[in-house]
Amino acid sequence: MGNRILITGAAGFLGSHLCDKFIDKGFDVIAMDNLLTGKLDNIKHLFPLKNFKFYHHDVTKFIHIPGQLDYILHFASPASPIDYLKMPIQTLKVGSLGTLHCLGLAKNKKCRILVASTSEIYGDPEIHPQHEEYWGHVNPVGPRGVYDEAKRFQEAITTAYNSYHGVDTRIARIFNTYGSRMRIDDGRALPTFMYQALSKKDITIYGDGSQTRSFCYIDDLVEGIYRLLLSDHSLPVNLGNPEEISIRDFAQEIIDLTGSRSKIVYDVLPLNDPQQRQPDISKAKAILNWEPRYSRSEGLKKTLAYFRQAIDKQKVED
Ligand code: UDP
Repeated sequence: MGNRILITGAAGFLGSHLCDKFIDKGFDVIAMDNLLTGKLDNIKHLFPLKNFKFYHHDVTKFIHIPGQLDYILHFASPASPIDYLKMPIQTLKVGSLGTLHCLGLAKNKKCRILVASTSEIYGDPEIHPQHEEYWGHVNPVGPRGVYDEAKRFQEAITTAYNSYHGVDTRIARIFNTYGSRMRIDDGRALPTFMYQALSKKDITIYGDGSQTRSFCYIDDLVEGIYRLLLSDHSLPVNLGNPEEISIRDFAQEIIDLTGSRSKIVYDVLPLNDPQQRQPDISKAKAILNWEPRYSRSEGLKKTLAYFRQAIDKQKVED
């Protein structure tokens, strides 16, 4: 196998870190993004490199890549709740039509494809922690349905291309991940709390904050994706950090970390907001010999430096 890889969603948070990883590993990276939620700023440092190419393209339209291709990473999609609530149709299209086009391309080029699935396919889970055999508890017509169902369809069509067309597929079920290049305004808990804490604004907790999440540092996730791509396992694999925390405690952790005097205020819990979420990563440990290396406190310290800079930059631009 050669080392020419297409990464969709390449200008996004995860996609841009994956570009860095595969460039570091000596791959020829073809980056694709329609810049709906991604930013060229995230990958502009790669533009001068000979083994990096960028195509401004929407993967819901037919994808043409000249020449040989060895791998595809399909990471294009709005991924934060406020983004997919604002862009429900694009979210459904990129998970369905976008995945179809990536799979067709993989079939045509006889290359391996890894698709970015999500813990959201488990919905508001009734079992805890969530292992890969759990089918989930998703409301198709709820506000999160556009993302959850697009990703569930993505898993189904990827599996069908594997069994019917023999395409070499991988499915990563990605849990909450954080790190540099997250958008300050993407509405997710971590960027919002960081922004609020660093700008002396109130920290907004939705509901009573007893809902839990498990946050994985970006470098750990990227290593997991890399190992999964190079593995021979076609069934879905959870990738995330099992260290679970309630949103209330998480907000407090960020207040302590930043030394902020922001106070916590409570707001309504969005509809169908999952009550608990924690990956069971036994499978990733066994198959990929992978587990997260960064504790939350280490990861958050690194991420704080990024947010300080990003917020300062925004102030200058305003
Ligand atoms: N959340 C919150 N305040 C915010 C943003 C999010 O309390 O300003 C809550 C949200 O309701 C959810 C949790 O934090 O329970 C994680 O939300 P996020 O959007 O980061 O990710 P997801 O719900 O997709 O896991």
